[in-house]
Amino acid sequence: MTELSPHLKQATEVVAVRGEGPYLHGEDGRRYLDFTAGIGVTSTGHCHPKVVAAAQEQVATLIHGQYTTVLHPPLRRLVERLGEVLPEELDSLFFANSGSEAVEAALRLARQATGRPNVLVCHGGFHGRTVAAASMTTSGTRFRSGFSPLMGGVVVTPFPTAFRYGWDEETATRFALRELDYLLQTVSPPEDTAAVFVEPVLGEGGYVPATEGFLRGLRERADRHGFLLVLDEVQTGVGRTGRFWAHEHFGVRPDILITAKGLASGFPLSGIAAPKALMSKAWPGSQGGTYGANAVACAAAVATLDVVRDENLVANAEAMGARLRTGLEAVAAGTPAIGDVRGLGLMLASEFTTEDGQPDPATAARVQRAAVDEGLLLLLCGAWNHVVRMIPALVVDEAAIDEGLRAWSAAV
Ligand code: PLP
Repeated sequence: MTELSPHLKQATEVVAVRGEGPYLHGEDGRRYLDFTAGIGVTSTGHCHPKVVAAAQEQVATLIHGQYTTVLHPPLRRLVERLGEVLPEELDSLFFANSGSEAVEAALRLARQATGRPNVLVCHGGFHGRTVAAASMTTSGTRFRSGFSPLMGGVVVTPFPTAFRYGWDEETATRFALRELDYLLQTVSPPEDTAAVFVEPVLGEGGYVPATEGFLRGLRERADRHGFLLVLDEVQTGVGRTGRFWAHEHFGVRPDILITAKGLASGFPLSGIAAPKALMSKAWPGSQGGTYGANAVACAAAVATLDVVRDENLVANAEAMGARLRTGLEAVAAGTPAIGDVRGLGLMLASEFTTEDGQPDPATAARVQRAAVDEGLLLLLCGAWNHVVRMIPALVVDEAAIDEGLRAWSAAV
């Protein structure tokens, strides 16, 4: 019998037949509160009526207009609408289908624009699964083992993960920036360094927010040494953290911003934004793709941006994130196995540790399974898969948050 590849193991036994807002309905007749949102994708919830209507209308009008051959109205509208939410200097856009592809687009642009070979990436970062993106990923050996040689020119620099070392944020920030300066002096001199790639909140690496001092330090060094600051907002963008872009929390602007996931509520779409002067340094023909900026995905993205604006979903993410965090902290206070609760907005996680503070993936996995029995879908992250994360749709209300917390408490 033909089967799905065995390496694609599902985190749950659930077969989802229908989605509605923050819920998934299983083939088993049960309703599940989905705190995974398709790994942070269904920003407006499952099957938001306005996204469905926009996609249905577009399917009946034009499904595919290849963007190096013709333009189409949904793409034009999307460029306009993104212009309203992006920092104004990031006034040039390129689109692809997945986060990994957009990361590669940013990598190609950074190398072509600077003529420099190396990229700095942060320890614990995740940038995707294509070979180049996997080469830039250090959030777990599972993402990079067994298909070497990986791409060269990647230099790993520390991220300020204060909790791991029992440090305060200031100490962690000082350490990370001093190590970066050391690497620039010893391994990758500025004249060889094209860019630093960083997630404003480490995603797959364990939901660790950057510190303002760290991002400001990166910005300052990028300016001083003439390399680019690339913010990978694939997971953090489009309202997820309680700001439209996570970098707004820190007051630090990128040279290249990468977006995907929540942008089109589940349709495959990603993009990079950069100043025109920088984007025009991409060599003709070096960026593109058959399916990039698919017309239906673009129509869904425009509807997504409308819903995010009209339903105040960024403010909702901040408010519901605060409510969820308070509840998670209360559960953690009575649970020695939870060593840390952290995150930003509706991107929150609980880290499971043993009595001596070591990562505890076994307990995290048990709790994840128990949560399914309670009707709550959750995902793991972190290098050891020891962190349970919560990324509900941005449309969650107080009732859904409280329902999730009751299920969480029971599972823990
Ligand atoms: N960058 C970040 C920060 C991500 O979280 C992800 C996916 O989880 C990616 C890149 C890769 O995106 P995709 O899986 O769409 O290729």
